[in-house]
Amino acid sequence: MINETPQVICPECHKQFTLEETITAQSNQNVIFECPSCGHEKRNIQTSKG
Ligand SMILES: [Zn+2]
Repeated sequence: MINETPQVICPECHKQFTLEETITAQSNQNVIFECPSCGHEKRNIQTSKG
């Protein structure tokens, strides 16, 4: 069985959600993670090339 849905684990409550549930992709390639369970929010999760 292949699970093609990307999963994200909240670093706060350690619950698992799909990317679509937690990740908001904004313009300017800014990505925000927000946990629907505990409300943990993390901005700029994309690796920035320095
Ligand atoms: Zn959480």
